[in-house]
Amino acid sequence: MSRLNELIQILSKPAVNERYAHAKATKTCKICEGPATRFRDTLSSYEYAISAICQNCQDIYFYNCSPSEEAFSSP
Ligand SMILES: [Zn+2]
Repeated sequence: MSRLNELIQILSKPAVNERYAHAKATKTCKICEGPATRFRDTLSSYEYAISAICQNCQDIYFYNCSPSEEAFSSP
């Protein structure tokens, strides 16, 4: 099963939505509040621009895989 429902639950929390502007301003993630400065590709970067969700959380919730350094191996 995908984690889409879990993501929807997280995104429906007011606290998470309130973090959106702050997350964008400080280049952090609105879900995990970690740094969101590295992205695998332009699509992931674009996703952050829309949602303020970092690469790790995108991997976890969108692609259902564990974050790994391998994801950042390409320049
Ligand atoms: Zn995150």
